[in-house]
This record gives sequence, structure tokens and C-alpha cells, in this order.
Amino acid sequence: MVKEPTLFIDLNALAHNYRVLRQQLYADTKFLAVVKASSYGHAPGPVAQKLVDLGVDYFGVAYALEGAELRAAGISTPILLLHPMAAHFEQILAYNLEPSLYSVSLMRQWIDFLESKNITDYPVHLKFNSGLNRLGMNFEEITEVVSAILGTNSLRICSVFSHLGASDDPNAEEFTRDQITRYDSFYETFTEKMRNKNPLFNNPWRHLCNTSGVLNYPEAQYNMVRCGIGLYGYGNDPKYDRLLRPVAQLKAPILQIHQVSAGQSVGYNHGFIAQKPTVIASLPLGHADGLHRIFGKENGCVWIHDQPAPILGNVCMDMLMVDVTNIPCEAGDTAVIFDQQHGAQDFAEGAGTISYELLTGLSKRIRRSIVP
Ligand SMILES: *Cc1c(COP(=O)(O)O)cnc(C)c1O
Repeated sequence: MVKEPTLFIDLNALAHNYRVLRQQLYADTKFLAVVKASSYGHAPGPVAQKLVDLGVDYFGVAYALEGAELRAAGISTPILLLHPMAAHFEQILAYNLEPSLYSVSLMRQWIDFLESKNITDYPVHLKFNSGLNRLGMNFEEITEVVSAILGTNSLRICSVFSHLGASDDPNAEEFTRDQITRYDSFYETFTEKMRNKNPLFNNPWRHLCNTSGVLNYPEAQYNMVRCGIGLYGYGNDPKYDRLLRPVAQLKAPILQIHQVSAGQSVGYNHGFIAQKPTVIASLPLGHADGLHRIFGKENGCVWIHDQPAPILGNVCMDMLMVDVTNIPCEAGDTAVIFDQQHGAQDFAEGAGTISYELLTGLSKRIRRSIVP
């Protein structure tokens, strides 16, 4: 029984998933745990602490604020800031975050910033675009990159990395292999160019793989991997989902039951019109909680006493209504939106979206509860 909408967080499942991913890796491959977007909507503090206990080497976040929150929670593990912005330079420094330099212009701004403070040897990571065309310096910019690095003593290049665009898609294997090959040859060219100018230049780390990269292309693990979704229990493929265990389970109590007769409607704008006598249960979750309108009109289905109850009509801001005509139930009974049997991936798929979007969209007002 749950008394209010609750996202249960199972840290033992997190540990299990970490071990499953770790098993794909060589003993000396480092593990960066991606905990951006409030650890994919879970519970940033406890999740990060558990990951520290499990022995992760690095954290990855998207925003400086997320890194600051980890530091405030007492985390001292190195943090790679994936998508830094010039507006956050002071915060990056204050919280000892390691920025990913994804454009020559950002790199120059960061160097100017460090030099203005007389800071030397600050750890940074160079991000190159190998085909995703999102963030990353282009391989053709190598000359500018090398000259910017050689022109300053403010940077310590910890890694040269890139990001796969379709590592979860078996039909995109050729594209992925091409990304890997081009990244490899760029790395060789870059380090050789650097060493020609500065014999003391150490080989920076390489990393390329996200969760699906680790699972589908473990040979491309290099020095480190960056896993997010797999830690939370999803492998973007049923065969990997079976090895992993969902960390989060979303449940809510039924607040009220209504009997509606044929011809009556349910929810705003007559989103559902009963063709026959129908029993409706109202649940305190809505689009403001991240259960978007797309889940309405029977695209989403919750579970009550282990039976499917489709979401009828339009999802409201704070409420949604489900069909319980064939399920004996009453106010106070528990509805499962997703759990370890009925995964978030399946719930998301019903509405044409993915576990990532569903999990990261769950709003703050849903209580998080750590499963003992
Ligand atoms: C979000 C992100 C990841 C994690 O990807 P998953 O598919 O969740 O494992 C890794 N690397 C970068 C650059 C990212 O932005």
C-alpha cells in the first residue's frame, strides 16, 4: 500500500546493474557513472553515495549546478561536466568540476578565464564530434586545438573523448564502427602532433562508450566508459534488460472510484466517452509529474492487483484516470505505473517514447523513497 505517489529506489538493484556492466570491462577500465538530470530522475544524493561505495571512478553531469549538488552532498569523486557553458565558469571552478571542452571557442574562453586567475594545470577533457553532430570539436579543427593547448599552461588534458550516436541500434552497426575507426585514427594523429611539439605530452585517456556502447561494442572501452541508463536498469534491448534490474518503481494510491454509464465522458474535453458502463479509478499523477498527455487515450497502462488498467481520456495536470471495470479494487489500493515486472521501458514504449525521457521527466513533487 502506498499513501501518496512514490518513486521507490532500490539501491541493491543499482549495485546489481553496476556489477553487470563492470563484468563487461577489463579490470583496469575506469567507470564513469552518469548522474545527470538528478540521476535520471532517481534520487541524486543516495544514488551517488551508493555509486561511490561501489567504487565508481568518475561522475558525469550535464550542468554545473548538478555538479555543485553532488559536492554539497559530500561527493569528492572527480566530476566530468559534459555540457559546460561560459556562464557557469565560476561555479565550475568553485566546485572543482572538470569541463568537457567541446568547441574551440569554449576552449579559448576557458583558457582566458583560467589565465585571468593565474590557474595552471586545470583538468579538462577534449570532446570531439565523430558523427552525432551535437557537441564536439570537429577533427578538421586539430590545428587550432593544438595551438590553443600549446599556447597555455593552464590546461591539463585528462582525456580526448567522443560520443556514439546509435550504439543501441543493431541496424546502425556500420555507422558506429565508422565512428570508432575515425575516433581511433584522430586520436593517433592528435597525440602524435602534440608529442612532436611537446615530448612530455602524456597520452590522455580515451573514452567513447555509453551503456549500449559497453554492451554492444565492449572492444571500444579504451580507458573508461560512461554509463547512465544501464545503471538504472535499462539496456535498450530486451536481451540486456533481462540481465539488469530496474532501480525505480513508481506507485500511487487510487484516490477515488467512479461508476460511469454508457454515453458519459471522463476527463477534460470528453477525452473518453464510455460505450458501456465503466468503472474509473483516479490516480494522483498528471502531466505536471512527468506523466505526459501522450500517455492518455490508452497509450499508457498501469497495473492494479497485477491487472492492466489503461489510462483513459486526457491526462490532467495532477490526475489521470484509468479503466478498472474488470478489476475489483477500491480507493486506497495501489496502482503500479512501472516496477521490476512492468518496466519503465514498456510503459514508455506504449506512448512511443523511451525509458530515458520517462524517468528523467518525473517531477520533484513525487516523493522518493529508498527501499531498505
Ligand atoms: C548522457 C550521456 C551518457 C550516458 O548515456 P547512457 O545511454 O545513459 O548510458 C554518456 N556520455 C554522454 C556524453 C552523455 O551525454
